[in-house]
Amino acid sequence: MSYLVLARKWRPQTFSELTGQEHVSQTLQNAIDSGRIAHAFLFTGARGVGKTSSARILAKALTCEQGMSPEPCNVCPACTEITAGTAVDVLEIDGASNTGVDDIRELRENVKYLPSRLRYKIFIIDEVHMLSTNAFNALLKTLEEPPPHVKFIFATTEPHKVPITILSRCQRFDFRRIPLGKVVGRLRHIVEQEGIAISDVALTMVARKGDGSMRDSLSVLDQVLAFCGDQVRDEEVVSLLGVVDRRLLMDATAAIFDRDTRAALGIVARVDEFGYNVRQFCGELIDHLRNLLILKAVGDVNDLLDLSEAELAALRQQADGAPLDDLQRHLSILLRADGELAHTSFPRLVLEMALVRMATLAPAVPVDKLLERLKKIEEVGGSGVADARAQWRATPPASPVVSPPAGASDRPASTPTSPPQPVERPAAPTASSTPPSHRRGPQPAPEPRRTGDDWADFVVYVKGGKPRLGSMLEQGSPLAVTAERLEIGFPEGAFALSSLKDSDSQAALKELALQFFKADPAIVLRSLSPGTGEAPPNLLEKKRAEDERRQSDLKQAATSHPAVSEALDVFGGTLAEVVPLGRKESQ
Ligand SMILES: [Zn+2]
Repeated sequence: MSYLVLARKWRPQTFSELTGQEHVSQTLQNAIDSGRIAHAFLFTGARGVGKTSSARILAKALTCEQGMSPEPCNVCPACTEITAGTAVDVLEIDGASNTGVDDIRELRENVKYLPSRLRYKIFIIDEVHMLSTNAFNALLKTLEEPPPHVKFIFATTEPHKVPITILSRCQRFDFRRIPLGKVVGRLRHIVEQEGIAISDVALTMVARKGDGSMRDSLSVLDQVLAFCGDQVRDEEVVSLLGVVDRRLLMDATAAIFDRDTRAALGIVARVDEFGYNVRQFCGELIDHLRNLLILKAVGDVNDLLDLSEAELAALRQQADGAPLDDLQRHLSILLRADGELAHTSFPRLVLEMALVRMATLAPAVPVDKLLERLKKIEEVGGSGVADARAQWRATPPASPVVSPPAGASDRPASTPTSPPQPVERPAAPTASSTPPSHRRGPQPAPEPRRTGDDWADFVVYVKGGKPRLGSMLEQGSPLAVTAERLEIGFPEGAFALSSLKDSDSQAALKELALQFFKADPAIVLRSLSPGTGEAPPNLLEKKRAEDERRQSDLKQAATSHPAVSEALDVFGGTLAEVVPLGRKESQ
């Protein structure tokens, strides 16, 4: 006995065997039941979804010798002849090879005669869209006034190429792509009858390759059986069909969800090892994540996902641990990578980078959670923020250069916003102090302020009378500060050093020193070679150090504030800088 391919051997012979087209068989069976049978049918749909099979089943149901019934008996001569393709009254015409008007004229001649044996004369025209315009016109004449003993069944993959005049005279049935689960179910039925050992995973791979077509799926199964025999191993199917193993996709997503960069890179190595096309793998991974996303978003996915039950169960388990937001972000990374893969010379690198990016993606905080937490900040921290504001204003930080003069601390709290300002106090001239120069700037304070740090006090005093001189002194390190000797060191080659050495500056400095120290100290300016480490820090350095210390104190205080810590937690940020309100407002 010669080998019959599975697609022919297992061609459905009844409506109940027709997989995935229940909407069609139900309607046809109802029509037969009620006796309301159209004279022309148009079956449309992709190849291999059951159009021609349905045409034959319909022909048998209409002509069965047991009587017209929703299911043909398949044993009477009429049924068996139609199955064998030998029934004289059922004419199967291939539209693709009988496109001319002459063919249709012949058909029209044939239509006139009564059926020789069966109840009806049935014309099945496959690929009807291939007919020429003239042929369609000739056919139309018959369709307009069909004899009662004639039925037409047209089948086409491209209904849009069939003239509207023909379409409008037919009862149209759209055949669907067969869902993967149904193809697998039918394949399972067939392999059991055939005594073949094959797993559901392998059958799913076969069905997926068939892409919604039962005939294609069965052809693929034929190919697999020719290669493997009656015992089919999954690995063989994987290598034979060149499909990406679903386990690899599951492993890849698991690595990403676990934030396991090493495992993710291992997947790329495996993709390479198996010889998969990187872009194909990326495409399959996109598909896999899409499935997860839909599963997560919708929950009930029966008609949305083309998956077998086993796959769906595994997918559901994986989707459980993945937040929807993360899935969306993963998907957009992969889609970008897919675009890059189209024109890169380093496909593996692109895939690796994408997977690493996905595996190191910071978890997203859902927006509703964010809003909820923000609300909490407002409740918990709202008053706290106001408190902090008030507290800050009440105790402005002490300036490191000039500590507040005695008495400043008991300033009334009613003027909390005034920034620290003791550097330049209004001059109150007295008889005892007459500054040497009146050209510009405020008068020096008559009574030098005393905080215990003579050098700092002296610089403030100089700044009061001669701001420029004061600024230069700020850059010097006080090496000796006594009533007899004022020794100031500057970095080698400093501008301040040379400009303080000029005679005007010397005179002014001497005068101010006289007033401040009530003595006439010798003023010595020294050049310090770098890195000697002998000089104490100058006032600017001290100020900078003090600023840093204060900033760190402020940060410490801010971070321990409940409102701030809650905000940092919500946004997952870090504290960059604390700007005192007083200073911010004045800037
Ligand atoms: Zn029959």
